[in-house]
Amino acid sequence: MLKRILLGVVLLTTSIFAASEINVYSHRHYDTDKKLFKMFEEKTGIKVNVVKADANALIKRLSSEGENSPADVLITVDAGRLYQAKEKGLLQAIDSKYLTENIPPLLRDKDNEWFALTKRVRAFMVPKGSGLEDKIKTYEDLIKPEYKDMIMIRSSNHIYNQSMLAAVISHHGEEYALKWAKGVVENMARRPKGNDRYQVKAVANGIGKIAIANTYYVGKMIGNKDFSEAEAVKKVKIIFPVFENGGTHINVSGAGVAKYAPHKQNAIKFIEFLASPEAQELFANENFEYPVTKGVKSNSVVSAWGTFKDDTISINTLGEYNAKAVKIFDLAGWK
Ligand code: FE
Repeated sequence: MLKRILLGVVLLTTSIFAASEINVYSHRHYDTDKKLFKMFEEKTGIKVNVVKADANALIKRLSSEGENSPADVLITVDAGRLYQAKEKGLLQAIDSKYLTENIPPLLRDKDNEWFALTKRVRAFMVPKGSGLEDKIKTYEDLIKPEYKDMIMIRSSNHIYNQSMLAAVISHHGEEYALKWAKGVVENMARRPKGNDRYQVKAVANGIGKIAIANTYYVGKMIGNKDFSEAEAVKKVKIIFPVFENGGTHINVSGAGVAKYAPHKQNAIKFIEFLASPEAQELFANENFEYPVTKGVKSNSVVSAWGTFKDDTISINTLGEYNAKAVKIFDLAGWK
């Protein structure tokens, strides 16, 4: 009994003295983030507690915790989930001059309930010297019969693919999107399996000829301790496709402040830090993502892959069409 009382006292005191902290719910799964959180702790003395899980699980948790949620910040790897969190009333407007001045309007929520932290591109990886690099130019090209048995891509339950299909819907409507999804399934080299890196490796191993993946994975595979990854990327070339009536499909990883954040000011400080040039450079140089803050340049390896024009649709659309995309994948038989 005495032990319990003592433990209670200890816990109470720690919670009083841990006022300088922040609780982050994050879907990001990269080592760069750990480093950044540590940098923030050292700079500010604010302790960063992280709950890592898939965005769906985090959103569910935020909803069920309601007003009692300890969460201050929600970080996702996709605009679709940020949109969803906002729709469910789980976020609040962020009042930050720094963020509104440095992150372009297309890369943030219109009510400033979330801001992008990094930009990512879903592109094609083909075997070097295959001639495909000069041939396949658009997302629409993927369904041409000449690419039969060539495409490799992860499963449709992943948000990266759902957002890509949401972009197809936004450009061409639902009817075409279904035709497109069916056409891609028709041209797959194998049933969807594995993550993005797995598709890139499969191109190098000759299993198929067109991998669809986020480009930063290619950067992370270069010089990887895993020799098979480092060797695989030497054999592939990145193509930046465009939509016939738009640009290259981009998505964002971003952050919002939780509706009932107990440490709201710390939360804003934290997001501002992640958008600072110092943090943006780390995202760019260690995770090979595209920085979003004005004036911060991409990593030189990334720039060497080539340039692209961001797609013309609003990032918000990816969330708006998510449910439709999921339904269409199902109808198309995309596993
Ligand atoms: Fe990822």
